[in-house]
Amino acid sequence: MPTPSASRRRFLGTATLGLAAAPTILATAIAQEAPVVPRGVSGRPMPKLEGEWPDPTARRIGFAVVGLGQFALNQILPAFAEARHARLVALVSGNRPKAEDVADRYGVDRKAIYDYGVFDHIRDNPEIDVVYVILPNALHAEFSVRASKAGKHVLCEKPMANTPEDCERMIASAREADRKLMVAYRAHFEPHNAKAVALARAGELGTIRLVTSDHHRHIDPAVPADQWRLVKALSGGGSLVDIGIYSLQAARYMTGEEPVAVAAQISTPKDDPRFREVEDLVSFQLRFPSGAQAHLSSSYTAQRAKRIQAFGTKAHAVLDPGTEYQGNRLAVVGEDGRREVDVDPLNQFAATLDHMAECVRTGRTPLLPGEEGLRDVRLIKAIYAAAEAGRWLDLKPDGSLAG
Ligand code: NAD
Repeated sequence: MPTPSASRRRFLGTATLGLAAAPTILATAIAQEAPVVPRGVSGRPMPKLEGEWPDPTARRIGFAVVGLGQFALNQILPAFAEARHARLVALVSGNRPKAEDVADRYGVDRKAIYDYGVFDHIRDNPEIDVVYVILPNALHAEFSVRASKAGKHVLCEKPMANTPEDCERMIASAREADRKLMVAYRAHFEPHNAKAVALARAGELGTIRLVTSDHHRHIDPAVPADQWRLVKALSGGGSLVDIGIYSLQAARYMTGEEPVAVAAQISTPKDDPRFREVEDLVSFQLRFPSGAQAHLSSSYTAQRAKRIQAFGTKAHAVLDPGTEYQGNRLAVVGEDGRREVDVDPLNQFAATLDHMAECVRTGRTPLLPGEEGLRDVRLIKAIYAAAEAGRWLDLKPDGSLAG
């Protein structure tokens, strides 16, 4: 039972003096308790915070962003403003005027701009803790390895690299340098996806029997960011490596299992000059040890979709859209109908930066280390092989082809 507060005790004690005295006593009690509100301009006490404090700027983990393209400029650099443990301290670009413009806008010292040739000089900049590689896919391995060799931790965009061998080099180099390496799979930090996974793990969907996920968008060679995606030597493949990887990831994190067999079909318009080197539509299927299946797809020609569905024995979760930068939605459909799930907003890019920063600070292994990226690159290789073979192919536990 709560004890009366000091002011209430004081009031109750004196109130026994008599009714006539009560208004005066009450007025006195109020006067004693009334906060002093300055009438003029004044420094007031710290307000109640609705979220967590950010680290003091000087204590935040310093990031160098490598590649100032569409994704870096539109999503990552603005996200530093919402990060609590990470700060932008350096830029790496082949275009000096662009880099200077960006540096001035984000408060980065112009002395901390590097071009690709002198990239290794980052070794001498103690402000840089982490290098975030946001280059075309084929360049991820080279810059990740150079960053680890310069003594820096690495956050690398997806897909981790174009071949399992490159991923293995990246992992080995980070390990030798005793530095961390993480693949920036932002969906793990996207709150609707995180909630859907939490519901699945808590058994709210029952046993997951099927995951479907479809990632489609139009590719436009007039857009610079799309140009290298159509050149296989830079992209490593077509829609599968670029956006099908979200479908693949979704199947793995929604089931919580690793696939044991894969089948795939590829369809690419023959007369479309965009697809001289890379594939368009990929449909692929996975079988999991529990008997669950995944039916997944990606393309550069079908109308935009970024959808994930997990069908359980009790209910199914629908993320539609599921992997947009903003505006994702989660619904659960069960016996009693469809329920939209309320999810607290969270900037998935800032959350990714903060997770990396916290791993660097605490020494923890990142949630999505290099091995996670390597597994997907092995699976992508197996998906292409299954399409070529035209039949189901068995997988080893590490995601590579069995036999
Ligand atoms: P982009 O073309 O806009 O940016 C690429 C950057 O690399 C540019 O600054 C460009 O100048 C530089 N670059 C250096 N050498 C180059 C070369 N030979 N050809 C082309 N560019 C070169 O591409 P983007 O869309 O920003 O993609 C960059 C990386 O980010 C890719 O790995 C991509 O998969 C990844 N990405 C991730 C997400 C996500 O949601 N996680 C979204 C978009 C892109």
